[in-house]
Amino acid sequence: MLVNAYGAHAGDRPLQPLQITRRAPGAHDVQIDIAFCGICHSDLHQVRAEWYGTQFPCVPGHEIVGRVAAVGAHVHGFRPGDLVGIGCIVDNCKHCADCEDGLENYCDGMIGTYNFPTPDAPGWTLGGYSQQIVVHERYVLRIRHPEEQLAAVAPLLCAGITTYSPLRHWNVGPGKKVGVVGIGGLGHMGIKLAHALGAHVVAFTTSDAKREAALQLGADEVVVSRNAEEMAAHAKSFDLILNTVAAPHNLDAFLVLLKRDGTMTLVGAPATPHDSPNVFNLIMKRRTLAGSMIGGIAETQEMLDFCAEHGIVADIELVRADQINDSYERMLKGDVKYRFVIDNATLAG
Ligand code: NAP
Ligand code: ZN
Repeated sequence: MLVNAYGAHAGDRPLQPLQITRRAPGAHDVQIDIAFCGICHSDLHQVRAEWYGTQFPCVPGHEIVGRVAAVGAHVHGFRPGDLVGIGCIVDNCKHCADCEDGLENYCDGMIGTYNFPTPDAPGWTLGGYSQQIVVHERYVLRIRHPEEQLAAVAPLLCAGITTYSPLRHWNVGPGKKVGVVGIGGLGHMGIKLAHALGAHVVAFTTSDAKREAALQLGADEVVVSRNAEEMAAHAKSFDLILNTVAAPHNLDAFLVLLKRDGTMTLVGAPATPHDSPNVFNLIMKRRTLAGSMIGGIAETQEMLDFCAEHGIVADIELVRADQINDSYERMLKGDVKYRFVIDNATLAG
């Protein structure tokens, strides 16, 4: 089945309209008409070959929401018309320790929604900047938000789970002081989720202009990280810092804000490494520098249900497919509140 998509033929070329093939749904497959797809900074890293190993043509997109169009004969959990989502994972090995623990996201055999090997043409997965996708039912998430919120639900499939998972892993809740560094797609979700979990939330931004907006997202305090005095006022006070910054920066400036046994977990994945932190900033207070990658399928459903229950969606700007390249440039300048979402209906015709 041929469908319209948007993708790039090389890392230094803009994205453009393409046609791609989707497999006919197998017995356990769900065929989805994609309504909206979020634009994650990872899409930009991958399609511009900033990360290793991009296969071209590359069709990014792993914040996918839409309606079930058809299901295979053995699918019992979904019916045509259901509102569903697909995040970053479309397959996993199913027998390693990570899979057995329900953490497909850490399986070495995890197949991502784009740029991972698949028997389907052209040999690697193609993502959600497309009209349709066909995925095994195991990776299909149920959306319980009202339909009018569907576009704003899309970013939960990556930005939502990537921030929810570490917040839950490090037991964020009432009585905990949590920092969220970088108020972009991930960071603004981190603020909303940490607030909903009951923590005291401090947003760190490089942009003075985001101060007011961060408070409205649910931050209790905002620190402009370029301001040494504001930073020093929070020394040795955080239980957890969730760092979403997409570029190399000075990690020590944040490590010294952790209290004894505090953790900074990196979720931002810059193309070039950070300078190593000063180990004394770890040793002196038994601090931990950690990382975290998206979340498992069960946890992604848990996050979606938590968000539906608490009325949480992303703050988005809806764009047409022909605005994707421009959206990338604006994302790099931090000129988005806070996530671009593609209206996939604009891929038609
Ligand atoms: P984004 O919307 O571009 O947000 C990144 C934010 O980082 C910006 O809004 C900005 O916030 C801050 N920032 C950017 N450049 C900076 C610099 N040079 N110095 C300091 N701060 C800077 O990106 P995103 O979609 O949230 O993604 C963030 C990162 O997470 C990307 O690297 C992405 O690939 C990665 N990611 C990782 C996972 C995972 O599983 N670990 C999943 C998804 C995405 P302020 O303006 O507030 O300073
Ligand atoms: Zn993403």
